[in-house]
Amino acid sequence: MGSIRLLDDALADQIAAGEVVERPASVVKELLDNAIDAKSKVISVEISEGGRDLIRVSDDGVGMDREDALMCVRRHATSKLRQFADLSALTTMGFRGEALASISSVSRFRLVTCQEGALAGTEIRIEGGAEAQVRDIGAPRGTTVEVKELFYNVPARRKFLKARQTETHHVGEACLRTALAHPAIRLSFVSNARRVREYLPAEDRSARARAIFNDQPLLDVDGAHDGVALHAVLGGPERARAGARHLYLFVNGRPVVDRALARSVAFAYGDALEMGRYPAGVVFVELPPAEVDVNAHPQKTEVRFARASRVFDAVTRIVAKGLGTRSWGEGITGSVAAAKAPETSGPAARSADFWKERLAPGPSVEGKDRWGLATALKDDPGTYDPVSETPAKLADDAEEGPPAPEPSVPPLRVFGRVGSLWLAASRELLWAVDPQRAAASVVSMTWGESIPAQRLRFPERVEVDANTASAIESAIDALIAMGVECTAVGEGTIAIHTLPTLGPLVRATLDPPAVLDAALRALESDPAERAKALAHACCANVEDACAAAVIDRLHQEGLLESVARAWPASDLRP
Ligand code: ADP
Ligand code: MG
Repeated sequence: MGSIRLLDDALADQIAAGEVVERPASVVKELLDNAIDAKSKVISVEISEGGRDLIRVSDDGVGMDREDALMCVRRHATSKLRQFADLSALTTMGFRGEALASISSVSRFRLVTCQEGALAGTEIRIEGGAEAQVRDIGAPRGTTVEVKELFYNVPARRKFLKARQTETHHVGEACLRTALAHPAIRLSFVSNARRVREYLPAEDRSARARAIFNDQPLLDVDGAHDGVALHAVLGGPERARAGARHLYLFVNGRPVVDRALARSVAFAYGDALEMGRYPAGVVFVELPPAEVDVNAHPQKTEVRFARASRVFDAVTRIVAKGLGTRSWGEGITGSVAAAKAPETSGPAARSADFWKERLAPGPSVEGKDRWGLATALKDDPGTYDPVSETPAKLADDAEEGPPAPEPSVPPLRVFGRVGSLWLAASRELLWAVDPQRAAASVVSMTWGESIPAQRLRFPERVEVDANTASAIESAIDALIAMGVECTAVGEGTIAIHTLPTLGPLVRATLDPPAVLDAALRALESDPAERAKALAHACCANVEDACAAAVIDRLHQEGLLESVARAWPASDLRP
């Protein structure tokens, strides 16, 4: 007896009706999903002319009986959903019950299916959504769906299909994604009678990924944090590319395209990865189904997370830990994802905590650091490339948009340090720079009218005496203008909610109580001097790692003189 039911109308309406079929690749994706859901082990995808003329997906899955076969081509027929509450607990790939109905309404459609041990299989033919023609047919166990002349009855859509190679490429990508997520399946892809790819069964997802990205060394990353489990197989920074096209993302087994998620993976590489570049590889994120809305996009490649920033934060932490980039302590306040892109991408949009976390010193985790990310920065601050961090270069995909103008200032080389001073040389001069003063200058220079703030994920509570408490209360607005938002939460207890953002070039570990203290002291000085005073306080423990970048920036801006001692090179000659 069939296991397919019709969704009732109300439920049908609850599910946003969306076009499932956009191009051959979306048909292939739906048919692959169905084959996976049917527990297939061997699947073949065949297309001709990029899928324009023919798409055929055959599987050796459980198949359908005649009744189910007839039902499955009706809109909102699905065996996978009974009531709306189920939507949040989906574990199968498909669930809308509209793929086959949609596909058969815009093509010459044929489905042949047979269950294990059945006397006969069933063939269903549908021309452009017309009534189904059914007959018994001899067939092996499994299901084959043939889609001929896609959009033959919707000329406007057919006209918009791209060149054969483009559509073929997209179909190939759909196969690749399925192969990555389902390593046990044997999947072949044939285009114009030529076998393009054959994915042989692999032991697990790592093995599959290695077989697919066989040209580069890959690192396995596994971990869990804050309700997010992650498994990834990632390439090194030297193979990273502009744009996230080679970083395949999956959420609960479904392929997704999510810029913020890709970025949270890239963040974990720290400085080893220039902004806008992404590693190649595969990332599988697993969350409780109720926390992901896979219904956000008709083709189900976009997701909505119930608590996006925490998910992104967890992803960055797990990947960073796995790569050994930094030791990312537990319970660090602030959030990488709080620097929410893309609208506000750019270093200025990043929280102080972002940099604080990213650069917090400490032993790399369990001695890992297989890409040498942690050590690269420590040993050779000179390799830090500040130019790559300028906003103009932060465009998401470096291949898009005009290139950033190169500064015309002669190069300066930061080459070492004497005591607490950094030495930098231009052609004529040798400079000695105090990194803390330098950083404070860069920070106050980048702050505008009011100082940008970044919210702490967990407010920091500080005990204060009665005088301080009343001073804070009467200066709440002035403090907010300095990026320090706080509230009284009890007798003598203040919660600090935000800290000033130091900007991309300066990394310092901000201690919330110390910053509040500095802000209160800055209040006593002339308003014009406040930002400077606060910047000095915030940069009191600036890290060496950013000194080179800061010095270079000051040089570019022509401000190095104001914070450095300079010797003409001629004076240095013996
Ligand atoms: P959905 O996958 O969202 O349920 P579809 O229109 O893709 O909707 O498929 C409708 C139903 O047809 C599925 O729920 C499933 O029961 C059945 N079906 C589709 N393709 C296959 C297949 N290859 N093997 C077995 N059953 C299938
Ligand atoms: Mg389906």
